Amino acid sequence: MLWAHARLRHARNVETQSRVAEVRRARPEAEAWLGLLEAALGESEDGARWEAAVPKPAADRPVKAPLLSRAEITVDGRAARGWVRRLLRRTVPVRTQRIDALALLEAAVCQDDERVDALARTAGAEPQPVRVAGQMAALPLLQTCGRRLAPELPAAWWEGYCPLCGAWPVLAEYTGLERKRQLRCGRCGTGWAVPALRCVFCAETDHENLGYLAPEEDEQMRRVEVCQTCKGYLKGLTTVRPLAPWAILLDDLMTVPLDVAALERGYHRPERPGYVLEARIAERRRRLLGFAFGARKGGT
Ligand SMILES: [Zn+2]
Ligand SMILES: [Zn+2]
Repeated sequence: MLWAHARLRHARNVETQSRVAEVRRARPEAEAWLGLLEAALGESEDGARWEAAVPKPAADRPVKAPLLSRAEITVDGRAARGWVRRLLRRTVPVRTQRIDALALLEAAVCQDDERVDALARTAGAEPQPVRVAGQMAALPLLQTCGRRLAPELPAAWWEGYCPLCGAWPVLAEYTGLERKRQLRCGRCGTGWAVPALRCVFCAETDHENLGYLAPEEDEQMRRVEVCQTCKGYLKGLTTVRPLAPWAILLDDLMTVPLDVAALERGYHRPERPGYVLEARIAERRRRLLGFAFGARKGGT
């Protein structure tokens, strides 16, 4: 696999481009973050680069474990390192070679912030930008897994975390005339249906403890679901059709005022991931010698 361009590519999909431009105008303060997301969306469009890395779900994964739990993910080492380093170079003012790129990718896929912070410290970098670079670096792989492994998702999934990658949902979507509640993962794009009156984070079902906050002008479209029991919150959106996987994190950025409103009222998002994946990233060995030998035999 050859990566001809050292610079970051941007999303080519016209719909993605125009949505990114819209978010850029509305949230100029988030430019650094948006630039990385745009690069990750561009990389995700080129799914072929990551297709070969999509793992078979582990047979020994526990009940209630997401599909990527204990998965062995084999990537093209040189290509994956190049991709992670290009993001790091934009974010971290240290020599990015000091950060083990594949270890960062693995820690980010597993949402293991402590490990990401340790990798940053070893390189003398601030943890927060390395966390962001790691999250964005994992997106193309996770979005490709989301597309390819969708047929293997369980027919019913009652947990609050993503059945594919273990993250908490970014959004609850209410789609169509039935307003069926569908949770959406911002990492792999997976959607899964759960009953409306149930807290995603602590499974509270007593309606006395579940409520919502809504901006006055936009109550029909947007709201924040809150739980008094665990103080968790989740943004909700009424849509005609489900958001495309790439659009979820852009929507998340556009609705930051809802996060601010929830945080000001004492609600929060859990710090820990919904499920600890324990996935592994390994490097695929290239068979360069085999190719060279074959060429000679062909008489060239
Ligand atoms: Zn997911
Ligand atoms: Zn709760």
